[in-house]
Amino acid sequence: MEKGKRIVVKIGTSSLTANGGSINLRRIDELAKVLSGVRNTGNSVVLVSSGAVGVGSAMLWNGVRPTELDGLQAAAAVGQIRLMHIYDKLFAEFGVPVAQVLLTRNNVENEVQRRNCLNAFERLLSMGVIPIVNANDVVNTDEIKELAGFRDNDNLSAVVAELISADMLIFLTDADGLFDSNPHSNPDAKLIPRVTEITPEMYESCEGKSALGTGGMTSKLRAAERMLAQGRETVIMNSEDPALIYELLEGKQVGTVFAAG
Ligand code: GLU
Repeated sequence: MEKGKRIVVKIGTSSLTANGGSINLRRIDELAKVLSGVRNTGNSVVLVSSGAVGVGSAMLWNGVRPTELDGLQAAAAVGQIRLMHIYDKLFAEFGVPVAQVLLTRNNVENEVQRRNCLNAFERLLSMGVIPIVNANDVVNTDEIKELAGFRDNDNLSAVVAELISADMLIFLTDADGLFDSNPHSNPDAKLIPRVTEITPEMYESCEGKSALGTGGMTSKLRAAERMLAQGRETVIMNSEDPALIYELLEGKQVGTVFAAG
């Protein structure tokens, strides 16, 4: 495995939860093991995890996501610590310290705050900590639909990858990658293994959102486009088997890889 990569891994609500918001412990356990393994071989890892609103809604409202802003804020507040509690416990099994980083758009747009954020990330990564990032949905005053101003965690992941100059952004999602048409409606849809340039047709082929989360393929494409423009790699792959990340880092074909040239 190539050593010393900086990798941002993003996992969405529908990959972290099952049955209307209850936590998919097996998935998180596997993820914690793999990311710990990736870190142990000399890489730096940042995890961007959604799921706060989904898990909080399961705890407070039987999995029904509230529609009003303060309900969403309450769900995020309750769900976030439950999620972090579980991450902390599972990563501790593998001897890896984790940190919680909650961000709003101001934190990365204001020059002083941006520098402070970056310093904190650098310090954590230099000590082998895996920072776990989410949007700070509780202090968001405008509209939680804009999730702390980042629009969605797919975009937040690209913002974080840019901030820390990551080599690679990996989206763990409920699809195997990007297809040439929507695989839900077209059984003949084919996976695109490698993309060097994002075209309008790609956006057209992947309209729609995931049921519990806020992202979907379109927001991942947007993030990949942003990454490509900076010469950084993005991968969209299935979250079902996080161990495929090892294969990816060994250079094998996994999911869809967006890379220049
Ligand atoms: N920050 C939201 C949450 O933790 C999710 C945002 C997203 O999935 O894009 O529930």
